[in-house]
Amino acid sequence: MTSKIGSTVLGYPRIGPNRELKRALESYWSSRSSAAELREVARRLRVDTWRSLRDAGLDSVPGNTFSFYDHVLDAAVTFGAIPARYTDLGLSSLDTYFAMARGVESTPPLEMTKWFDTNYHYLVPEIGPDTRFSLADRTALEQYREAAEHGVTTRPVLVGPLTLLLLSKSAAGAAESFRPLDKLTELLDVYAELLGELRREGVAWVQLDEPAFAADRSPAELAALRAAYRRLGDLPERPNLLVAGYFGDLGEALEVLASCPVEALGVDLVAGSSTADALSPVRGLRDKTLVAGLVDGRNIWRTDLDKALATAATLLGAAGELAVSTSCSLLHVPHDVAAEANIDPQVKSWLAFAEQKVREVVVLGRALREGRDAVAEELAAARAAVADRATADRVHNHRVRARLQALRPTATQREPYAERRAAQRKSLRLPPLPTTTIGSFPQTADVRKARAALRSGRLDRATYQQRMRDEIERVIRLQEELGLDLLVHGEPERNDMVQYFAENLDGFASTDNGWVQSYGSRCVRPPILFGDVSRPKAITVEWATFAQRLTEKPVKGMLTGPVTILAWSFVRDDQALAETAKQVALAIRDEVSDLETAGIRVIQVDEPALRELLPLRAVRHEQYLAWAVAAFRLATCGVAESTQIHTHLCYSEFGEVINAIVALDADVTSIEAARSRMEVLDDLNAVGFGRDVGPGVYDIHSPRVPEPAEVANLLRAALEAVPAQRLWVNPDCGLKTRGYAEVERALANMVAATAEVRRSLR
Ligand code: GLN
Ligand code: ZN
Repeated sequence: MTSKIGSTVLGYPRIGPNRELKRALESYWSSRSSAAELREVARRLRVDTWRSLRDAGLDSVPGNTFSFYDHVLDAAVTFGAIPARYTDLGLSSLDTYFAMARGVESTPPLEMTKWFDTNYHYLVPEIGPDTRFSLADRTALEQYREAAEHGVTTRPVLVGPLTLLLLSKSAAGAAESFRPLDKLTELLDVYAELLGELRREGVAWVQLDEPAFAADRSPAELAALRAAYRRLGDLPERPNLLVAGYFGDLGEALEVLASCPVEALGVDLVAGSSTADALSPVRGLRDKTLVAGLVDGRNIWRTDLDKALATAATLLGAAGELAVSTSCSLLHVPHDVAAEANIDPQVKSWLAFAEQKVREVVVLGRALREGRDAVAEELAAARAAVADRATADRVHNHRVRARLQALRPTATQREPYAERRAAQRKSLRLPPLPTTTIGSFPQTADVRKARAALRSGRLDRATYQQRMRDEIERVIRLQEELGLDLLVHGEPERNDMVQYFAENLDGFASTDNGWVQSYGSRCVRPPILFGDVSRPKAITVEWATFAQRLTEKPVKGMLTGPVTILAWSFVRDDQALAETAKQVALAIRDEVSDLETAGIRVIQVDEPALRELLPLRAVRHEQYLAWAVAAFRLATCGVAESTQIHTHLCYSEFGEVINAIVALDADVTSIEAARSRMEVLDDLNAVGFGRDVGPGVYDIHSPRVPEPAEVANLLRAALEAVPAQRLWVNPDCGLKTRGYAEVERALANMVAATAEVRRSLR
């Protein structure tokens, strides 16, 4: 058994090459299969993964990367942080786990939120002063054994103790001053116990992930990091420790960790900028292994292996030993490029998914150990692909660049707001407290079937179009019956708000099987933005104008904003994101303009991901927000003053982005608010937001139908903060995941509540 890390990856996709885990989970949840059957699918996926990683030639194979739902939940369960309301259900351990993840009738699930700046969601553990940690689950150990039985030696991966506590929230009832981090010492006792057991089992290395330190951390948190790893490092009986920090630079945490008695540090050399200059002066690194994250774990491009080796060469003197790895877990990329039959062959030759990235790491490892000649062929192939991509015609569109060059500063400015407001009132003639929705209506099985049939060629375009038109007509009639004021067409033709646009823009490719886990069994297939973006022809105009012809009431055009399109795609890495954003914005601007010309008077450009792309470090916020706002404005500022621009944001905690929301200069902004009881309005007032606002009056994530009185109360609360002339009435988000029965009742109650509150205005 080698004790060197050599070449490795920090983690691997666990959903299965054909989403086997998704199917097995959903079948178990709907009682179509047994726990034993689910466990068997899981076991097979693990064994296949271990074997393929070993056979690919990795020197160190990560273990414990499988999860039935989420690795943060796994860590909470391992260390016994299970809130009593779940253990009280008296379920099996597997069903208790799923109750925490998904909830049961009587008990909602744990809160879910984004894993750093990725599109993966984790479950937020709850830690209180009374949380009693214990080694409640030994999956890490059992899976080490399981792999060993199949002849594979693994390196168990665990969420590190600091990251676990920093991502947790205080349990309900904890004192205001309590922080989960207060429990660090107690938690470390159990980490120590587990490390001891792993060592006795023969485990050589354990990986502890501490990505929380790629974000800004207080001196107290850095001190806690130091204390924790001194303590774990000083344990008399433990495996070697690899502490991995990823999604950016470790900043001050790098020096802290380098001074601790751990054997290896993993650094992200893709998202972070640490190079030899930053790493060489770090004392303490000299007697450690530096696990250099040279292969991008979050994007799908083939690695420039020459460049990676050049970077590696600069690091040789900085550390005692150099190992190569991915920048982060491969959880964030699809399984295998080979499974793609429909991507253009040239574009395909530029791509590397998880399987391909493993091989890249192996090649880099061999080049470092045996010299470049040993892998000359692989290096040449990579070089050719990288060169081809850099010069390919389909990547570079001179017309797009020329158009951006020629833009005047006025392209991101509109007339003064007062003038716009007057012109829009005259054009739209909406009642006070106008009612509307966020865009999508329930996606029925019929609608989905029709889309799939069109894709597979079983349905011709004309029939498909007729089906969609029928659906749009149904949605328009329903909204008229309900008495809504500003209507939508319902978005039946869209599979997903980003993918739909990507499929209709030049510069994007779509995958057939490029699934990435978003949470639990939910997977997404992010489009691949590979080249300069442009819009060959109008995308949404036919649907919007069809809807508008059916009714006297105004119909909103619905578009996805440039920042959100970038956030939910794999983006090119050969130019600044700000530049790519401009190109996407220009394409959306063309669509806005065509909608306006076609007589659509209100256009909504959704930016639910504006906050999601916010860099982890505060020093980078300003720059990001400047280009993000500029992109939105480029997309939306090309219209006449009488055209009303809406935007929609999917969160209620604005924090650092609140000034950017003001700067978007949208005429109307709809936001999530029901769960926070309209508190967001005070936040907006505090920064002088003076535009129309539609705080969501009910939570569409829950199947609950709100009573009219409840909605009316929320509206009255909103009116405390916002004058009636500026207040809109709408749900929190789109309705596409809900069923018609509940949507009809919920919207009817929303309209009834609005009518009641309107009467009291007079
Ligand atoms: N217009 C989109 C919809 O209603 C917005 C979705 C979102 O905000 N995530 O579905
Ligand atoms: Zn939303």
